[in-house]
Amino acid sequence: MDAIIPYKEIFLKYLNETRNAVNGKCAGIEPWQLITSTVAATLLGVWLYMFLFQPESLTLRSKKWFFRVVRKLPIIGALLQLHHPPPQWLWLVRIQKQMKKTLDDMTANLFFLQETKSYIKTLPAKGWSQPEVLKKMKEYSSMGKENWEGGRVSGTVYSGDWKLSDLIVKVFEEFVWSNPLHPDVFPGLRKMEAEIVRMACTLFHGGPKSCGTMTSGGTESILMACKAYRDLAYKKGIKNPEMLVPKSAHAAFDKAAHYFGMKIVHIPVTKMMQVDVKAMKRAISKNTAMLVCSAPQFPHGCIDPIEEVAELAVKYKIPLHVDACLGGFLIVFMEKAGFPLQHLFDFRVNGVTSISADTHKYGYAPKGSSLIMYRNEEYRKWQFFVAPDWQGGIYASPTMAGSRPGGLIAGCWATMVHLGEDGYVEATRKIISTARFVESELRKIDNIFILGKPEVSALAFGSDKFDIYRLSNLLISRGWNLNILQFPRSIHFSITQLQTKPGVAELLVKDIKECVHEIMTLPQEKTTGLGAIYGMAQMVPDRSIVSEIADGYLGCLYSTDTPHSAEAHTN
Ligand SMILES: *Cc1c(COP(=O)(O)O)cnc(C)c1O
Repeated sequence: MDAIIPYKEIFLKYLNETRNAVNGKCAGIEPWQLITSTVAATLLGVWLYMFLFQPESLTLRSKKWFFRVVRKLPIIGALLQLHHPPPQWLWLVRIQKQMKKTLDDMTANLFFLQETKSYIKTLPAKGWSQPEVLKKMKEYSSMGKENWEGGRVSGTVYSGDWKLSDLIVKVFEEFVWSNPLHPDVFPGLRKMEAEIVRMACTLFHGGPKSCGTMTSGGTESILMACKAYRDLAYKKGIKNPEMLVPKSAHAAFDKAAHYFGMKIVHIPVTKMMQVDVKAMKRAISKNTAMLVCSAPQFPHGCIDPIEEVAELAVKYKIPLHVDACLGGFLIVFMEKAGFPLQHLFDFRVNGVTSISADTHKYGYAPKGSSLIMYRNEEYRKWQFFVAPDWQGGIYASPTMAGSRPGGLIAGCWATMVHLGEDGYVEATRKIISTARFVESELRKIDNIFILGKPEVSALAFGSDKFDIYRLSNLLISRGWNLNILQFPRSIHFSITQLQTKPGVAELLVKDIKECVHEIMTLPQEKTTGLGAIYGMAQMVPDRSIVSEIADGYLGCLYSTDTPHSAEAHTN
């Protein structure tokens, strides 16, 4: 008794009715009106789409717009002109005013030389003799040297071994005029670079297909990975590629997103300061071009759960970059140094498609070298750039730079083959045991705590009892130079070879202990100086003010003004 339903008839009936209804509504509208409104509606749709979907999120753009408008209000401008501080309830204006004052103070004082010194502002009319140059050079190199040589600076100088630098300088000398842009002219340099990349790939268990390039530093290595994955995403038809990056990952990823027009999605971290894998999974979309983990991340020295993120990478067929810029040349030696890590972090993990590692950090090579490595050439090829039609010839270049300093490649090569596995393992053993000592001693100090579980050479500490930036201030006054972290407030130290010298780590711990004790006698006291500026900067809702101050700082770096600039003269 199956009734045969006349689908076709029903469909045609509805179609007819709809047509009649639409035609009825359009009766009286002239064709030109129809055409114009259709075009307008389409344009509006396209505009709306372009407005809503941009690399920068709508909320961020609305926030920026809001503060831009607020700052343009005449009343705010007038308040900023006043000499006394605005009332308490106008805290936003107060902060802005304070920040402006900070900026003014900074530009006024930051890099001013002592009264007796001045800047060279024109080329010397007659060149200086070599002894003159060398004498002058000493003046420059002695400025601030006492800061780092005693081991009081976090990170920054990773070796500081003058015997190693003697070797590097000799090798640099031989290659000082060389440039890997011309491998036909400098075949030996090409061989060195290829060997550095291969040695590093082997350290990270890359296998015979693995490959890479050298770059000028960690930032460039990260830029290159992001560029490669962006172009790979374009090839797959993704028009707006996104990167999913832990909040703790290096700002070079933000820079890459900014430079290459990608969207960056910051993934929160857990209490252990490792990326929240569930949040990472939720953020994956059809636009995801790459995932990121750090081994370890800079702020707190923690390693992300790379194996878990790699599972996502495999499941959703998304490339995964492991940023080992900071600790790459430690983690590969930790097992042999007697500090095996709990988890794998390199190409042994299926799903890891690229790794960045800085030779100029714990590789102890001179500044200006780093490595970007890929699982195979299918990834690396997207990094390369070729301009086939240039009048100057077919131009092919592997990285950002065109010409590159061959001397630095040679210096890096010499450092690696000179230290050898035994040298690196020994350095790693010293550094990690010092870091473990500092960590365990700091854990014994009341009223401060370590963030997460640092696994390599860097660690961060904070406090629930007082403003940790006060501790930073006090340590600065004792000659230490720590990194100030934000969101959450904490301070950071990266142990290098300079802190493995006898007594240095002990002194660091002792000074921290004494300073915490001093602070706890007056726990509520206000933070001053640099610490206060950092504290304030975190509370400013209008991030563009913070950016402006930082812009001002960058400008100061190139200042050649002196307190009495009027009497400008050379030399
Ligand atoms: C230092 C660092 C970088 C960037 O390296 P540069 O050499 O300063 O460009 C990237 N990632 C991490 C984790 C780092 O510590």
